[in-house]
Amino acid sequence: MGVPVILWDFDGTLATRPGRWSTCVVEVLDEHMPAHGATRQQVAKFLNNGFPWHDWEKVHDDLCNPDDWWEPVLTLITDAMIRIGVGPDKAASLAPRFRESFVDPARWHVFPDSLQALRLSGSAGWRNVIVSNHVPELPDLVFQLGLADHIHAVVNSAEHGHEKPHPQAFRLALQAAGDPITAWIVGDNPIADIAGAAEVGIPGVLARAPEFDSAFIERIETSYGHARFPDWMRCCDKRASTAVEAVQLILSHSA
Ligand SMILES: [Mg+2]
Repeated sequence: MGVPVILWDFDGTLATRPGRWSTCVVEVLDEHMPAHGATRQQVAKFLNNGFPWHDWEKVHDDLCNPDDWWEPVLTLITDAMIRIGVGPDKAASLAPRFRESFVDPARWHVFPDSLQALRLSGSAGWRNVIVSNHVPELPDLVFQLGLADHIHAVVNSAEHGHEKPHPQAFRLALQAAGDPITAWIVGDNPIADIAGAAEVGIPGVLARAPEFDSAFIERIETSYGHARFPDWMRCCDKRASTAVEAVQLILSHSA
């Protein structure tokens, strides 16, 4: 009960795969179909919806083993390839290559200050727990990227079926942390991370997020069903440009 916790979002907060899903599609096409001619932007417009987290109010307990999780996602990826002009058979044959490439640790980058931030909270006596909407391979990715020694638990939507901002995702993370009295969240998504956690009483620091211009607001509200969180902006009064800054802010509030 006595060990406080920082719940960490993973993607965009501790590490990133630059260009994410659409860039991965282009990389696979570059390797296996060099004359494809498609751009990341052309691919991206077919990947704006259809991932489990876009339907976060539904519990995805039918997707809790890796192949079941990937099946609809790879259908989405295959359809995107077909819509940019790849033949259906070729697109289907490239889907397994996409999965391999997306989870390849060499394609991921840990932000320069992430380890320092995890060490800082750990040395102050806090637990670090990852709570993420992610692919089933996330725990291995966390290990391969050298973060696992600083992480008490990885609570992954692809294992339990609840996507942030679903309140159960945060409750499961608290449970994995040992039901601490003190818990904060650090994340880059104002609705999925910060407003969702606020709903279950967890204060948050919005980190590494862009300014709330009209394009960002439209994208975030469209992707995460903001109707449930009309005051999401008010939850984001604590911001940090780095993970270290976020930890410093949390420690100063909890001193
Ligand atoms: Mg994120």
